[in-house]
Amino acid sequence: MDYRERFLVEPGRKVRLEKIDPSYTGKHDSHEKAAPAIQKHLARLRKLQYLLYADADQSLLVVLQALDAAGKDGVIRHIFSGINPQGTSVYGFKQPSKVESDHDFLWRAHQRAPGKGEIAIFNRSHYEDVLVVRVHELVPRSVWSKRYDLINDFEKMLMHNRTRILKFYLHISPQEQLARFEQRLEDPSRHWKISESDYSERELWPKYIAAYEDAMELTSTKRAPWYVIPANHNWFRDLAISEIICDTMDEMGLKLPPTRVDLKDIRQKYHAAVRAQANVRGKSRKHG
Ligand code: AMP
Ligand code: MG
Repeated sequence: MDYRERFLVEPGRKVRLEKIDPSYTGKHDSHEKAAPAIQKHLARLRKLQYLLYADADQSLLVVLQALDAAGKDGVIRHIFSGINPQGTSVYGFKQPSKVESDHDFLWRAHQRAPGKGEIAIFNRSHYEDVLVVRVHELVPRSVWSKRYDLINDFEKMLMHNRTRILKFYLHISPQEQLARFEQRLEDPSRHWKISESDYSERELWPKYIAAYEDAMELTSTKRAPWYVIPANHNWFRDLAISEIICDTMDEMGLKLPPTRVDLKDIRQKYHAAVRAQANVRGKSRKHG
């Protein structure tokens, strides 16, 4: 199954989230059965990131968006914990600070965009400025409605700088969210995750869905596509996202860069160093 085809939001196509089954698991009927495929993708990802970092010519931006408890943190833990922290960054977008809100809404996102060779993961993102901001009417419609074009231009600029962008919406049902809120309530080690706003935001579910549907329709592009990932099952969410990331990176033409040194010359230097080291050892044995 090509998950990139299956879960893609076609550029310009209206998204109807209620038509997409958040419990979808494809041909896999359990985590146990899907586990080898997930492991395979994680191993692929490690190799691809090694090449991305070594090549230091392109970069990857992964945007994670969802309603509360949909599993953004889980994706980061499960999918990215195996890759080299060097060359990887994760940034969680919270309510803007005073300095951030004194700037244009893309300012803070731009600062966290990946450099050459890097993968940047956005846990929430500049999309909050057409989601929570729109739902809560934090700025007038005349302001947020212009942001879709601004986002497209911003992402286009990043792409011109050789950044690939993947945007994932983790799709869960309201019932599944409530079940997860219950788990948080029952497990003291998860109490820190609970916030008052979990419940007030939940009341606004339909408004969020409408805002997400518009955002995805207006900003899914060939080079910076949105994917709607069925996320009621954590393991399926991880399977689909890891596969989409690896398939995309496969297309990036990543390769080890050419050697920058004269290997013949370096080999001679190496052998000279080995001889010198043997001399030092020989002398210290005599004196020791
Ligand atoms: P969490 O992801 O649970 O740590 O929560 C972060 C909170 O910051 C969420 O409620 C977001 O909606 C909120 N947030 C993120 N970006 C913005 C923004 N640009 N304006 C207002 N609230 C935001
Ligand atoms: Mg939260």
